Amino acid sequence: MTIPQTMRAMVLARPGNPLEPRELPVPDPEPGQLLVRVRCCAVCRTDLHLVDGELPDPKLPVIPGHEIVGEVVAAGEGVERFSAGQRVGLPWLGWTCGECSHCRAGHENLCENARFHGYTLDGGFAELTVADQRYAFPLPDEYTDVAAAPLLCAGLIGYRTYRMAGEEIDRLGLYGFGAAAHIVAQIAVYQGHKVFAFTRPGDTAAQEFARGMGAAWAGGSDQSPPEELDAALIFAPVGPLIPAALRSVRPGGVVVSGGIHMSDIPSFPYRILWQERVVRSVANLTRRDGEELLALAPRVPIRTRTEVLPLSEANTALDRLRAGDVEGALVLDCGSLPPTQGD
Ligand SMILES: [Zn+2]
Ligand SMILES: [Zn+2]
Repeated sequence: MTIPQTMRAMVLARPGNPLEPRELPVPDPEPGQLLVRVRCCAVCRTDLHLVDGELPDPKLPVIPGHEIVGEVVAAGEGVERFSAGQRVGLPWLGWTCGECSHCRAGHENLCENARFHGYTLDGGFAELTVADQRYAFPLPDEYTDVAAAPLLCAGLIGYRTYRMAGEEIDRLGLYGFGAAAHIVAQIAVYQGHKVFAFTRPGDTAAQEFARGMGAAWAGGSDQSPPEELDAALIFAPVGPLIPAALRSVRPGGVVVSGGIHMSDIPSFPYRILWQERVVRSVANLTRRDGEELLALAPRVPIRTRTEVLPLSEANTALDRLRAGDVEGALVLDCGSLPPTQGD
């Protein structure tokens, strides 16, 4: 294809303001980079935290979006993993230094100098984007572009969060039943675990959705589960869910928070943490998480619930996410999605 000179993008100029539609020059791929025509990009809660000014030091202006599915249209010098015409997925992690103590210890998700798509690098709310080939993933053929998009963050971070709960998780609680939880629930059920889903109190539609995804029980986050949990994963950015989850897990149980931002955690009595209960967070992803999840997804098979909106409606998508008015994941059609996938 001929590469255009300019592209449409939705741009965050200043946190606290809506994204602005802009016509921008198409970036040139640097050595090691791919130029990718974005077919679609899913919308993540982290995009909302970015737009609301809850993440420190974004690149500004920045193009948000880090669940990117596209086609390679050109490659910079030295690219050997991908060639023009290939489909790729681009996640949150866009670059690491390989030299800091975390990188050297194999914890590239904690890299001190890491760069992230849609935050400190431009992302996928645009017709085209560039990406370092080393952080791009080939996508399983079983998935359409739209179906694959939510795997790239909701899936990856969800999977890492799930993994951090350890092996002994027969009874798994999921707090906040959105894009990540609906994927994790399917993996957990596939692996023989029993899932308990917690939604906003009174959100019977989300509870119904959770049961449809295999949850054995679904209720409000103000309720106690019918059985004591082995682990709880928190996907809603709500601090009071930490003590709520701690009260629901058994001695030795784990509470893992999967989000990048959360409201303050209220103080709580030591006795709900005592007996070797653990609270931990998950940060970012490693490339290994991506490879594992993308290999596992078609075996489960994970089915993602999606709704497609045009790129120009990115602000509507963010508003709906803020209001909790989403079942599964919202995906932006960035201009080159095959017509059959446009919903
Ligand atoms: Zn995300
Ligand atoms: Zn590093």
